[in-house]
Amino acid sequence: MSESCIFCRIIAGEIPGDFVYEDGEMVAFRDIHPVASTHILLVPREHIGNVQSLRPEHEALVGRMVLRARALAEQEGIAEGGYRLVVNSGPDGGQVVPHLHLHLVGGRRLSEDIG
Ligand code: AMP
Ligand code: ZN
Repeated sequence: MSESCIFCRIIAGEIPGDFVYEDGEMVAFRDIHPVASTHILLVPREHIGNVQSLRPEHEALVGRMVLRARALAEQEGIAEGGYRLVVNSGPDGGQVVPHLHLHLVGGRRLSEDIG
């Protein structure tokens, strides 16, 4: 864990999080500034900085994060309407919190442009 990392501190229970899922390798909690009625962050327990920090042994974890996002979309009732999965990686990618996370956003019609 990184003491200075806000997501590591949420995972450690030092900062509150509105958790919707947790298992041995990842957690999911609601974004504090939601951009739609469903806005959930899926976060590996391991402090991985961003996509550039991923190693081959993380391959299955990333797959499970996407499949967990799908399950949460179903749980949230947005699967049929559709949703967006986003990973911002690095400053030019719009990443603000330097701990890898997958955004699950849905519940309204999102804009079609990507950036
Ligand atoms: P990114 O720009 O991809 O790094 O996204 C970081 C996200 O973390 C933003 O959508 C923030 O609203 C969200 N965030 C920051 N602090 C917290 C927090 N304490 N609890 C939940 N979400 C947070
Ligand atoms: Zn961290």
